[in-house]
Amino acid sequence: MGGKCPHRKVKKRRLSNKSARRIKFLVKGDDVVYDELLKAAEEAAKGTETKALPLNDDLPGMGQFYCLHCDRFFATNTVREEHVRSKLHKKRVKQMNGPAPHTQLDADLAGGMEMPDNGPKLMTS
Ligand SMILES: [Zn+2]
Repeated sequence: MGGKCPHRKVKKRRLSNKSARRIKFLVKGDDVVYDELLKAAEEAAKGTETKALPLNDDLPGMGQFYCLHCDRFFATNTVREEHVRSKLHKKRVKQMNGPAPHTQLDADLAGGMEMPDNGPKLMTS
């Protein structure tokens, strides 16, 4: 007797379209966001006004409501404020205020790849 196992009727729950697409949008690495936050902090320290976000038809809310920490756009300011109060965002802020996130260099070092060592220069004139 072959056939399917009768207990596996329940399909694996798949991500809703929104979550599935969100992964696609979250392309920025932690280190990139970290760098941008540093830059933003520097600019704030200099006293320069944070420049207005460029209008973008493709983004929710024309790209006007942005969370720098999470690299996400929101449709309205209300949604953005809601997001800022969310657990996900707070976790993210904590992460970004902590030690610098891993970079490719860290990964390479951890993987046993040492800093490129091309040896002493042979042609020194
Ligand atoms: Zn956020």
